[in-house]
Amino acid sequence: MPLHEFELIDRFFSRLTGGDEAVSCGIGDDAAVLALSPDQELVVSTDTLVSGVHFFGDADPYDVGFKSLAVNLSDMAAMGAQPRWATLALSLPQADMAWLQGFSRGFGDVAERFGVCLIGGDLTRGPLSITGQILGTVPAGAAIRRSGAQPGDDIHVTGTLGLAALALSLLQSDRESAAIPPSSLERLLRPVPRVQAGLALRGTANAMIDLSDGLAGDLGHILVASGAGAVVELSRLPCGDGEGVVSEAEMLRLAVNGGDDYELCFTAPAAARDAITALAGAADCSMTLIGKVVAGSGITWLDEAGNAMSVDAESYQHF
Ligand code: ADP
Ligand code: MG
Repeated sequence: MPLHEFELIDRFFSRLTGGDEAVSCGIGDDAAVLALSPDQELVVSTDTLVSGVHFFGDADPYDVGFKSLAVNLSDMAAMGAQPRWATLALSLPQADMAWLQGFSRGFGDVAERFGVCLIGGDLTRGPLSITGQILGTVPAGAAIRRSGAQPGDDIHVTGTLGLAALALSLLQSDRESAAIPPSSLERLLRPVPRVQAGLALRGTANAMIDLSDGLAGDLGHILVASGAGAVVELSRLPCGDGEGVVSEAEMLRLAVNGGDDYELCFTAPAAARDAITALAGAADCSMTLIGKVVAGSGITWLDEAGNAMSVDAESYQHF
């Protein structure tokens, strides 16, 4: 039987991460954390976008440039890291000036907004694919890892869920459709990484991940890394406004399973609720309590009456 994405990483690569005491956190989190000096750590992450997999081949190059840096920044947000530097490896079928102009504007606008400096990369001829690497910093010991969730913690998510997946499903069924809510298209094509929220949550969140593959799968990664389970109340999920294009039930399904939201999911002690309300205001980003960490494993989804409900949880996997 073919192995899934994360089983492949475990089988072939996870064992190669050990043996260096400067590696505070290697394979298995949103980014690696490297202790280079006593007071600061370097945080590093890589993401690839492939034409036809992560974006349509005829996508606006501005959006492709925007998203290729935004998804990297989202992993910095998930660690509570300050993004600083990026590298960019581009494989292009040909040197299309108009495409490169649009791409570099999109990438550059995100870099400027978040204070990131492009420090190098690579350019080759080949199928269209973009690999960005992002480097950031945290005060030593301050990175928010997936493994810190404690039974009794609250589970929160930033922003709204499901809109990017809504746009993707509508585009996949009818690319020309005028019925795609503009707000959902914006979320899919130009996700805004929650960098400020991630930084603000240092010292408050026990565990954190960014929602790239869907809440069910990504919260699942926190739970596996933390050796815990969760109870999530479906009625609390901050579903995006589908503007009546799909049913509420479908919107809920997209909020549970849909990828590409690039919101943050984090756990924190219940005593931190007031602090979280305050820092949500300061970071200009809603934060919604959706459930609790419990002893055990897996996610129990509760309906409005508080009954356990079976949810068809299927997060995105490349393999
Ligand atoms: P994210 O969705 O946050 O970008 P991924 O799901 O892509 O994270 O990866 C999970 C973990 O596996 C990360 O720590 C990542 O660095 C690591 N990883 C992914 N692919 C490889 C690989 N080919 N070799 C080594 N580590 C990898
Ligand atoms: Mg991530």
